[in-house]
Amino acid sequence: MSVMVDIRSVHKSFGSLEVLKGIDLSVRAGEVTVVLGPSGSGKSTLLRTVNHLEKVDRGAISVDGELIGYRRSGDRLYELPEREVLRQRTRIGFVFQNFHLFPHLTVLDNVVEAPVSALKRPRGQAVEAARRLLERVGLAEKADAYPRQLSGGQQQRVAIARALALEPRLLLFDEPTSALDPELVGEVLDVMRDLAGQGTTMIVVTHEIGFAREVADTVVFMDDGRIVEQGPPGDVLDRPREERTKAFLSKVL
Ligand code: ADP
Ligand code: MG
Repeated sequence: MSVMVDIRSVHKSFGSLEVLKGIDLSVRAGEVTVVLGPSGSGKSTLLRTVNHLEKVDRGAISVDGELIGYRRSGDRLYELPEREVLRQRTRIGFVFQNFHLFPHLTVLDNVVEAPVSALKRPRGQAVEAARRLLERVGLAEKADAYPRQLSGGQQQRVAIARALALEPRLLLFDEPTSALDPELVGEVLDVMRDLAGQGTTMIVVTHEIGFAREVADTVVFMDDGRIVEQGPPGDVLDRPREERTKAFLSKVL
């Protein structure tokens, strides 16, 4: 299978705090990678570097063979202009912990907005596609509701539909169920499981070990800015080799 995401020797600091200390990670097309690790280990920062919400200090990231944020010329890298970065970003879906829906737009318009403004799709076509996506996440009947009228689980499913509306090559999830009441977690994980089953390439930061065990092709354990251990869920979750992985899992399992 082809490589969809290639992260090479990525370093990132905030001031004097080095948050990513040399990350190497490769995600194949159609695969699901779950990233686990304690709070502060750099998981969100890593996701944010993939769509250039954070610039890397060293190293490089490619998505679908395209260098993110830079253009290579000989052995030098040149920063891409902002509109090129935005173009790259439109092809990478990002689902946040706190949904980030537009509160003043209906559910349907939340999903329609980006394809119309970023991809210049005719509105009629975008509306049709949005209705199909809302169907897919089980919210067809909420098209005319506003985000505040929905539960957290429903809002997060709208956010997933909105990310899908840009027909992304890759979906990034940053703790998509962490802000939800426990009884609403399952409906969001169900949608994510369906997406995985349909061959969507996903990187998911989550503490949902059951989801990781069932859906992930690869589980990555991060601690203190490094990947400590990675492999199939049966290895990393059930037979971890590293003490730090064992200690973390004993707390979350
Ligand atoms: P995680 O998602 O694993 O909890 P983060 O990537 O959010 O970890 O954060 C890693 C470290 O980087 C933390 O110490 C955090 O406080 C710090 N950090 C994250 N973003 C910034 C920022 N924009 N400015 C300064 N420090 C940051
Ligand atoms: Mg985080």
